[in-house]
Amino acid sequence: MLKRSKDRKVANAVSPNGKTPTIANTFGLPSGKAYSCPGATSVCEKICYAGNLERIYKGVKDILVDNWNQLKDAKYPKMVMLLDEMIISFKADCDKRNADKLFRIHWDGDFFSVQYAIAWATVIKKHSDVQFWVYTRSDFAVPVLQNIPNLALYFSADDANFELASKLKETTGVKLAYLAENFAMGKERMLEITVKSAVPCPENNKKLKLITDKGSACVTCGQCVYERNDILFSRSKK
Ligand code: SF4
Repeated sequence: MLKRSKDRKVANAVSPNGKTPTIANTFGLPSGKAYSCPGATSVCEKICYAGNLERIYKGVKDILVDNWNQLKDAKYPKMVMLLDEMIISFKADCDKRNADKLFRIHWDGDFFSVQYAIAWATVIKKHSDVQFWVYTRSDFAVPVLQNIPNLALYFSADDANFELASKLKETTGVKLAYLAENFAMGKERMLEITVKSAVPCPENNKKLKLITDKGSACVTCGQCVYERNDILFSRSKK
C-alpha cells in the first residue's frame, strides 16, 4: 500500500494541544529531476523545503521512495488501484474522527507522467466527497487536472519558469502559486500577467501560525484548499 504522511501545515485534524496532526492527509514522492519532478526549476531545486526534509530524515525518505517504487513503473489500472486504496483508508480515518475530508496531494514530489496525472484525475473524481488540493510544476498535468470540481489546482511558478507560467495562465487560466524573493517583488511580477493581485500566503507572511488547536494554517486560511486566488510565496518571508 502507498503510505500517507502527516504535515502540520495542511492537517485536517489536530490534537487537542494544537501541536500535531491526528490524520495523515497528504501523500509524497521523492522530489527532484531524478525522481518525480520533471518540471523542477533551478530555483525550486535550490530551496525545496520538502527535499531538505528528505535529506535530514532517513525514515521520511524511505517512505517516499517506497511510494515511488510502487508507482513509477506501474500500469494505469495498478496506479488507480493504489491511489484509490489510499484515499479509501484516508476517508475511513476521517469518518472515525469526524474530520473534514481535505487531502493535499504531494507534500513532496510532483506528477511524473501524464498517465500518473490521469490516474489521480480518475481517483479524485471517484471520491467527490473529498476536497483535494495540489501544486505542480509539471505543465502537462494542468489540462488533465483542470476543471475537476473537488480539486484545487495550482501551477507553481518562479523566476526560472515564469514564461511558461505566464503562457499557461493565458491559455488555460490556471491559478498560479508564485515564489518570489519577497512579497513586494512577487506582487509586481504577478500583476504583469494577472489583473487581480495575488494573495500573499499568510503562513509564509508570518500572519498565521503553522498549527494551533483551532486547526492547521492551510485549513484555517482555505485560499489554496478551495482555489480562491493566485497565491504568492516569498523565499525571504518578507
Ligand atoms: S495561502 Fe493559505 S492555504 Fe495556501 S499555502 Fe498559504 S496558508 Fe496554506
